[in-house]
Amino acid sequence: MAEYILDKQYFINVIKDLIPWAEERKDYFTELDSAIGDGDHGMNLSIGFREVAKHVDEWSVENVNTFYKNVGKALLDKVGGSAGPLYGSFFMKFGLPIKAKGPDEGATFDEFIQMMDKGITIIQKRGKSTIGEKTMNDTLMPALSTLKAANEAGDAPKAAMAKAVEAGKEGLESTRDMIATKGRAMRLGERAVGHLDPGAASTAEMLEIFYKNMPE
Ligand code: ADP
Ligand code: MG
Repeated sequence: MAEYILDKQYFINVIKDLIPWAEERKDYFTELDSAIGDGDHGMNLSIGFREVAKHVDEWSVENVNTFYKNVGKALLDKVGGSAGPLYGSFFMKFGLPIKAKGPDEGATFDEFIQMMDKGITIIQKRGKSTIGEKTMNDTLMPALSTLKAANEAGDAPKAAMAKAVEAGKEGLESTRDMIATKGRAMRLGERAVGHLDPGAASTAEMLEIFYKNMPE
């Protein structure tokens, strides 16, 4: 069987889908953040991806690592608050495991898992945060461990990613009953209970975009 490859175009397409997504979902993420934060999460993602949209074609000639580094840098430079820099760091580090590849090369599925690992792990380092604190980690960390486990169990790549997306959604749902110990929602204490975490919601949808673009 030929080896499963996520080609260069896959990695470009994911970013090209995140651009309109940030606009379409802006109001929803704002609504979630209005309940337990300061109501800017939708706007923050929109500002970031509008900046990315301006440069995405010029960046596409670079290899995957440099392309994603540029995306991350734009989010870091243009977006305030906490999620912008955390999303920024995710994209800054995402391509590192394949940094030696040429401008037309993609990644194997094992490399893709390493990339997800790099991106997701930096969020815990930067945020000094972990699972159970009502943040995006509650989506991303279970998604990553499920992705690794499904791959090790021999699932086909897209099926493994489907399980990861599901685990991320369950993680997102789990934030509803949590009190926050990181981020702005922390100040609300018990009053944050009953509300989904905005960053957990947006990252769950981001993972779904990574999934939907994958070939069978
Ligand atoms: P801000 O909180 O600065 O207004 P956003 O509204 O854009 O930024 O993003 C809020 C989201 O950021 C939260 O819902 C949470 O998921 C995430 N977040 C905040 N602080 C942290 C942290 N220390 N670690 C991980 N995620 C965090
Ligand atoms: Mg906010």
